Amino acid sequence: MKLRHALFSVLAAAFCIVNAEDKSTSAPKAMPKPEIVKTDDEWKKLLTLEQYEVTRGRGTERPFGHIYEEFEKQGEGTYHCVCCGAELFTSKEKFHSGCGWPSFYDSSKARGVLEKPDNSHGMRRIETVCRRCDAHLGHVFEGEGFKTPTDRRFCINGVALKFVPKGGEAPKLLDVSSEAVQKKKDEVAREGGVEAEK
Ligand SMILES: [Zn+2]
Repeated sequence: MKLRHALFSVLAAAFCIVNAEDKSTSAPKAMPKPEIVKTDDEWKKLLTLEQYEVTRGRGTERPFGHIYEEFEKQGEGTYHCVCCGAELFTSKEKFHSGCGWPSFYDSSKARGVLEKPDNSHGMRRIETVCRRCDAHLGHVFEGEGFKTPTDRRFCINGVALKFVPKGGEAPKLLDVSSEAVQKKKDEVAREGGVEAEK
């Protein structure tokens, strides 16, 4: 009887933990992990300060800047992640929203954009990141009344994008290897191994 009681307590405690976790996380559970993981120092070496602050520091470039002016003039082509080279948008989904940041109405063609709930700054928004490397791109808004096929506005920092004109060479995809991250993984594996032996 005692054993049964103890077992019940354990099960009840486990249930409470699961429930508590449910309430504490507002983000969907199965968010895919990025394929490319690098340390901040490694990203800093690969990016300009502005690119780093926006994509890794989740910043926002000022609207109607020189990058936006260039974006407005660009013709046919594809838009790639400035961090890892993954294709994110094409010029076909580009539209003029007048907001001062590059706007696209759809990201489904390349499937490189991941949408995440973002409750920062007292707002409920949907953040857009690169599925491959978790670079912050901007946000997506919907139902604003734009006469596009989706009525969604991917409001993207121009500095997070690399434009490749039609027929141009796509940027080389950044490979997964990161010396520092691999070293950390090895350390964790080693420590885990020692723990298991005890
Ligand atoms: Zn990326």
